Amino acid sequence: GSENATPANLTDDQLLGGLLTAAFSPQSCRSRYEFAGYHKRKPAHTPSPYLVAKLRKHEALQKRCGPGTAPYEKALRQLKFGDGAAAAAGDDDCRYLVSISYNRGLGNRIIAIVSAFLYAVLTERALLVAPYNGDVAALFCEPFPATTWLLPDGRRFPLRHLPDLNGKSKESLGALLKNNVISVAAGVNGTSSWSGGRPPPPYVYLHLDGGADYHDKLFYCDEQQRLLRGVPWLLMKTDSYLVPGLFLVPSLRGELERMFPEKDAVFHHLSRYLLHPANAVWHAITAYHSDHLAGAGHLVGIQIRVYHKETPPVSQVALDQVLSCARREKLLPASSGTMTNTSSSDQAVLVTSLSSWYYEKIRDEVGGGVHQPSHEGLQRMGDTAHDMRALSEMFLLSTCDALLTTGFSTFGYVAQGLAGVRPWIMPRRPWWEKEAATVVPDPPCARVATPEPCFHSPSYYDCAARRNYDDIGKELPYVRRCEDVSWGIQLV
Ligand code: GDP
Repeated sequence: GSENATPANLTDDQLLGGLLTAAFSPQSCRSRYEFAGYHKRKPAHTPSPYLVAKLRKHEALQKRCGPGTAPYEKALRQLKFGDGAAAAAGDDDCRYLVSISYNRGLGNRIIAIVSAFLYAVLTERALLVAPYNGDVAALFCEPFPATTWLLPDGRRFPLRHLPDLNGKSKESLGALLKNNVISVAAGVNGTSSWSGGRPPPPYVYLHLDGGADYHDKLFYCDEQQRLLRGVPWLLMKTDSYLVPGLFLVPSLRGELERMFPEKDAVFHHLSRYLLHPANAVWHAITAYHSDHLAGAGHLVGIQIRVYHKETPPVSQVALDQVLSCARREKLLPASSGTMTNTSSSDQAVLVTSLSSWYYEKIRDEVGGGVHQPSHEGLQRMGDTAHDMRALSEMFLLSTCDALLTTGFSTFGYVAQGLAGVRPWIMPRRPWWEKEAATVVPDPPCARVATPEPCFHSPSYYDCAARRNYDDIGKELPYVRRCEDVSWGIQLV
């Protein structure tokens, strides 16, 4: 619902310092204007006026180009009849970025959508989300007024094979480069073009998930960015937080730096702009909060993520790591009597995990005031109710004053990013390592420098220099190697 009714007097706080438009009716999506009230702290970050202006401009673009409009119908015809820029591009033509959701956990899907959104804003494309099992509509409100961000499904969309696109698809940027559909002129100042002076194709698939190869990742080069500009439809599949990689593209950097003077608040702003839990999810969040958490003066969130491939669902080592971190950093009132500066009765602990075993052990250790909203047992794919509980818990965690999260987990990234809180992160082995950790790492956790998610699969190729970066973590003052994933990069 994006009624144009004049909204109730919304305060600057409710509008997150101008980040949100006031063009929605508060009832259509209660979380949109209520979420701000769940953060006791004064907002540490306010959006730049330039970012605010960009967002308003982008909303106008989404409305002008969205499904049902004349430019949308025209762009659909381009897809159907296969001509790209062939039909002389008119002034009111629109270009699109379709973000394809697929079988990944909700945290991965969220960081992917946030990344796609930023790329759409930067390149002036309308963002459309191709939902995964109808999930997106059940989980989130519409972010843009007077239009929809959901790609209309079924009979009318000409590309039926969206979910099947993968690293081997011939329409991918990587394949186009490999097969010389894009020709790169030789020489230092060589520029690339569509081979034979052809117009750009009607669509290009961007394969940017964890398995992207060297050619796919040439996406992060100015040359490819320039070529992609003329393509009406870009289809993007990723499970990663691409944003630090976008900052490494010189032609995008200037705009990004203007939009985000504070580099450690990019996800914080984008996620609070874009992600508003749908009313049913918001009801679950606020009911749980008022029943269990609202009374606490100090709220500590602990996110424990254990993969079955790595360890059995219940891991003594993982529990020992949590308790050892909590003691060392004085995050919990410990049984020994060492306390945080708040009294234990004033403090509540929110535990999230697929298992209830950790919660029980932590409750035994602390006494009372420990809460866990759900214990799903196993991670499930394509189960909307399961995803709604996951989303609720990410938002509940984000209301905490202090966060202890599990390294490598995008579930934790979303919570810390929404909160804008630098978490203590527990290092852990990647899921593909067969052997479980048998000892608690020393130190068991560390307070990290940024709430920003880690980008797990950056391109190490310096396009301008035509060789790999010496150290990708030293290219820009605000891009560093992640503390929890040594080969990843993050904004600080
Ligand atoms: P990641 O695998 O840790 O990067 O996080 P994802 O969110 O991408 O995938 C994990 C999925 O498992 C989540 O989306 C949930 O469906 C489920 N899950 C994992 N941990 C929890 C938890 O603490 N609470 C709930 N409700 N679900 C969880």
